[in-house]
Amino acid sequence: MNQDPVSLDLGEDYPELRDSIRRICARYPLDYWARLDEESGYPTEFVAELTEGGFLAALIPEEYGGAGLPLRAAAVVLEEINASGCQASPAHAQMYIMGTLLRHGTEEQKRKYLPEIAAGTLRLQAFGVTEPTTGSDTTQLKTRAVREGDHYVINGQKVFTSRALYSDLMLLLARTTPLDQVAKKTDGISVFLIDLREARGNGVEIRPIRALMNHNTTEVFIENLRVPASALVGEEGRGFRYILDGMNAERILVASECVGDGRYMIRRAVEYAGERVVFGRPIGANQGVQFPIARAHVELEAADLMARKAAALFDAHQPCGAEANMAKHLAAEATWKAADTALQTFGGFGYASEYGIERKWRECRIYQTAPISTNLVLAYVGQHVLGLPRSY
Ligand SMILES: Cc1cc2nc3c(=O)[nH]c(=O)nc-3n(C[C@H](O)[C@H](O)[C@H](O)COP(=O)(O)OP(=O)(O)OC[C@H]3O[C@@H](n4cnc5c(N)ncnc54)[C@H](O)[C@@H]3O)c2cc1C
Repeated sequence: MNQDPVSLDLGEDYPELRDSIRRICARYPLDYWARLDEESGYPTEFVAELTEGGFLAALIPEEYGGAGLPLRAAAVVLEEINASGCQASPAHAQMYIMGTLLRHGTEEQKRKYLPEIAAGTLRLQAFGVTEPTTGSDTTQLKTRAVREGDHYVINGQKVFTSRALYSDLMLLLARTTPLDQVAKKTDGISVFLIDLREARGNGVEIRPIRALMNHNTTEVFIENLRVPASALVGEEGRGFRYILDGMNAERILVASECVGDGRYMIRRAVEYAGERVVFGRPIGANQGVQFPIARAHVELEAADLMARKAAALFDAHQPCGAEANMAKHLAAEATWKAADTALQTFGGFGYASEYGIERKWRECRIYQTAPISTNLVLAYVGQHVLGLPRSY
């Protein structure tokens, strides 16, 4: 691995990028997101505008039609979307899902898919990992892909596959060699790129799941789905490693989303605490209201620094597993603290949908569970950073 010098920008790095995102987000106010939340709808227009601006292709190399920007730039895009009160998840999905294709796909697959993904004519927004009975223990997944000549036949079920109804392609994790025939439980799992346009109604059925927050999440039922062998990404049996390869980038991007959400909640809480007058003075003058907001800000700033450090190491091709996991953890905690503080600051009005606080409060909770739960991040730090005994 080539290691470049680590450089870390403080303050508003990528100012033009931030400015462009803020201008787009200003066209998607609270009522746009409230309507989608109510209808479990998908932000089609918002995603289209981000795609046209090239922001969703930030990480796709220029030779495949993308912007070829560093990970930190992509993190800034996500942070600004959330800091503006919009929802970054449809943007983050494409950014980190296509990483597996970029790193492990054949040249033919990359030439076939990446330019169209960059142009927005092809959506790669869905990633099927989680299953109903295996949860965080991914190596136990039950979805099976069996080679038959120049095809694979796939059977199984995925749950919480977000945006599958709004994606043309889905990256799918399936076992190709049974667990009792592999040396290590992480062997024998493969990644496939499924063309959902062909698969739906021909072996794939997708049903929406109504959830605490609008994440367009679904259940995917797979029955005798035949896909060409060319749908396999990389080598058969190495899929688990490919997914692990992308995890640091994912953690760093998620941390930045948390930072953005936290900034939004703190800004709203500060504004409201300054304006709302009760007992003859702004509620923010009371330290019982002021200090939790100040504390949330302090914790968010610390999380932001760790996220920047992790991104700087990643972009310099240096090991960053510890920092990426710690950044995700600190940022998920800080954004939840900020969200809960904002809800409390708004009093009863925080519960009224038109203020947008209760919706963001629900959205800020997800980072404790997905894409990875807090305990699993702490297990990484305990076992891989501190060398404590393994629990699994
Ligand atoms: C809105 C939403 C969107 C999602 N989108 C996607 C998606 O697009 N694609 C996808 O594949 N998945 C997606 N997920 C699934 C998500 O990644 C999982 O929910 C998450 O990884 C946890 O898995 P689980 O729900 O099966 O929980 P489980 O693994 O059953 O864990 C339940 C609880 O037990 C804890 N736990 C489990 N094992 C241990 C242990 N050894 N030590 C300590 N604690 C432990 C966990 O931390 C957790 O708190 C989404 C989930 C949600 C809610």
